[in-house]
Amino acid sequence: MSEYQRCETCGEFGWVETHRCPPAWDVRLDGEERLRAVFAIADRYAAELFVERCYEDLDGPRLVAIGVRKHGSSGPWKLFDVEVDWVPEATATYVGESAPQTT
Ligand SMILES: [Zn+2]
Repeated sequence: MSEYQRCETCGEFGWVETHRCPPAWDVRLDGEERLRAVFAIADRYAAELFVERCYEDLDGPRLVAIGVRKHGSSGPWKLFDVEVDWVPEATATYVGESAPQTT
């Protein structure tokens, strides 16, 4: 019996028996030294995932320049402009009842 669970390597959910990790990419903010390994089926998706994971809490710029290359490669970086749509998040806090309407 196959199990459906999160892969410890790439973080994706899948069936343990048939799961294959997508290729690994090194991703960084363009011009920065610090990079991060990201698993994705293509370089542009690696750029998108990197921005989604690293900047979810930041009220940052709407356009981010990202460099991507094969994990472990020392070749040139492929550059992507990643456009960010910040999704509004609503949180309701109960603060009491309003006074009854008098007409
Ligand atoms: Zn995996």
